[in-house]
Amino acid sequence: MDETSKRFFTEARRVIPGGVNSPVRACRNVDSEPLFIAKAAGCRLTDADGREYIDFVLSWGPMILGHAEPSVTAALHAAIERGTSYGAPCPDEVALAEEICAALPGVEMIRMVNSGTEAAMSALRLARGVTGRDKVVKFVGCYHGHADPFLAAAGSGVATFAIPGTPGIPAAVTADTLLVPYNDIDAARECFAAHGAQTAAVIVEPVAANMGLVPPVPGFLETLRSLSREHGALLIFDEVITGFRAAYGGAQERFGIAPDLTVLGKIIGGGLPVGAFGGKKEYMEQVAPDGPVYQAGTLSGNPLAMAAGLAALRKLKSLDYQELERRTQAFAAELGHILRSKGVAVRTPSLSSMFGIFFTDRDVRNMDDTRRCDQRRFTDFYKQMRARGIYLAPSAFETGMTSFAHREKDFADTLDAARAIVFDC
Ligand SMILES: *Cc1c(COP(=O)(O)O)cnc(C)c1O
Repeated sequence: MDETSKRFFTEARRVIPGGVNSPVRACRNVDSEPLFIAKAAGCRLTDADGREYIDFVLSWGPMILGHAEPSVTAALHAAIERGTSYGAPCPDEVALAEEICAALPGVEMIRMVNSGTEAAMSALRLARGVTGRDKVVKFVGCYHGHADPFLAAAGSGVATFAIPGTPGIPAAVTADTLLVPYNDIDAARECFAAHGAQTAAVIVEPVAANMGLVPPVPGFLETLRSLSREHGALLIFDEVITGFRAAYGGAQERFGIAPDLTVLGKIIGGGLPVGAFGGKKEYMEQVAPDGPVYQAGTLSGNPLAMAAGLAALRKLKSLDYQELERRTQAFAAELGHILRSKGVAVRTPSLSSMFGIFFTDRDVRNMDDTRRCDQRRFTDFYKQMRARGIYLAPSAFETGMTSFAHREKDFADTLDAARAIVFDC
């Protein structure tokens, strides 16, 4: 069935570590091999064997308009005729910056980079530069890309000093990363009480979407806002996923909390490689060449990426986020209903155009809760859905994504696939 994909994967493993350019794509968590994708349009992917799938990964978030959206494709065609990189300012980067600053309450100025990783890394450097402090508070299970200071092992309990979560990172680099459980208001308070004076920043996914989907409990984000202010640390929202997804103006608009710095990526590139970090003017003016905090990039503000991002945001501005949220919510609720009717314990939370699938009978509020979910059952579910043409993230630690290209029929077909599942345990 997946013969061509299997052949490509065999070749790939000879020349690319694990056969993939980003680890989770290898599908090892779910005891599977990756599908090689030949093309995509709307909410559908076509693999190298010509089979079609309804896509709930959406390139891990960027494709909220669906694949090959006509206005984005047209903007890219036009841009490519004008040359693909100048290494000099171009008009679209100003337009995109203006669009983002107008949309996000916490962003007055913005600097473009090439990935979310680069954006998070640069935002932390800026926070350290402006505060003259070194420590950063990070939440267990939140992902901020693969820069050294963020790859700290998930310690349990209150504010564990972090040890590196991968070989290749000097312990000294993560020694200043303080880990706190997500949604744990008391632990955050204790952490600031002990380390507030040395803390440059607290960084958080305002809606956690890298441990499954875990929304913030009431008061969590508010507490981070007041604690950081009280202790002179910067509040950084990592909105790489939630920016232009939790609402057009991101989680900061949705929850009415303006962070000091914001990290962006994914949707703002319209499917091309882009990241950005922005925030209040007084901080962003500390970035070179206005200020002393160095940051640079040969391909930053790339004209193709800017054209795609700008076209995507302009299109998104005209669309009905609440309608997509309603459809996603109804879909996730019905999915949970169907699976429970088979005698399986499952929670299917949703927020905006994101949903989670947790095989557990308890609410999931943090990484410990996620880890307790039934991984074997998730693998069984994943494989059966994929065999029926439904493309889900190959890990229980990822979030399901919906797009404006998912129509009622696509959701209905997906629910039919779920109805046909037979659990073996
Ligand atoms: C994807 C992601 C990143 C990293 O972005 P890359 O472009 O993969 O480097 C950072 N933070 C969050 C919340 C993400 O989901």
